[in-house]
Amino acid sequence: RIAYVNGRYVAHAEASVHIEDRGYQFADGVYEVCEVARGFIVDMPRHLARLKRSLKELSIAWPVSEGVLPMLLREVVRRNHVVDGLVYLQVTRGVASREFVFPAAGTRPSLVITARKADPSTAAKRVENGIKVITVPENRWDRVDIKSTGLLPNVLAKQKAKEAGAQEAWFVDADGTVKEGGSSNAWIITRDGVLVTRPAEQGILRGITRTTLFDVAAKLGLKIEERGFSVAEAKAAREAFISSATTIAMPVVEIDGAPIANGHPGSTTLSLRQAFFDIAEKSPA
Ligand code: PMP
Repeated sequence: RIAYVNGRYVAHAEASVHIEDRGYQFADGVYEVCEVARGFIVDMPRHLARLKRSLKELSIAWPVSEGVLPMLLREVVRRNHVVDGLVYLQVTRGVASREFVFPAAGTRPSLVITARKADPSTAAKRVENGIKVITVPENRWDRVDIKSTGLLPNVLAKQKAKEAGAQEAWFVDADGTVKEGGSSNAWIITRDGVLVTRPAEQGILRGITRTTLFDVAAKLGLKIEERGFSVAEAKAAREAFISSATTIAMPVVEIDGAPIANGHPGSTTLSLRQAFFDIAEKSPA
């Protein structure tokens, strides 16, 4: 495997950044993950637009000129012969002697890009079975709209899910409404067939897959309501699913041990998943 590190393509096993990188010391950085499907990078323009916003919110400079990134992502995918899998990009504020305040102007942000193959049959099996989620109290900061590498609450929540035999944890707000998953957005489908997902302005990450699923739903003539929903409403829903670049739309069949409907993946979720790839933007790698 090959990684891109600050202008060089290096063997993945030997790829490294300096111990005083601010990503390592402070999680002072942002990232993006794009799905690679059948040789195409999915929704790359939307992911790069979100990266731009994340960098701006944290006053981190572009590590390379903005226009070069699509080429670098493609090149890392190509060099790793990834046809199905993902490409990961991370920008940190750079290497500097450890001080909380920003380093001197001119410190170069660090850019790392990696790519990894995934077996489509593993995803297919997951879709067939559906996944289980647990709920955990929201304990993250209020800037989760920034796709920061500071993910310790997400790590702990997802570990707790794993130990409970589940695959995702949903953060629940103090008012009892579901926010999002540790690495995904949360959706339900009501008994009337309406898709419900939390407004992006209400303390969640604006998922790229979430945005594209709005386009997919419109194409399929499905109604979406952007509003909060409670755990109780989710347990009583006709369907539930999560969305993210790597899971697309993944059926949820159990929440805190309670089965959703008959405990099998929902048909509308599967239709959304099917239609997703036709509608998403596909950049040849
Ligand atoms: N919420 C969180 C907290 C996430 O980490 C992710 C995955 N990056 C998402 C939502 C889904 O976003 P996307 O569809 O852009 O992958």
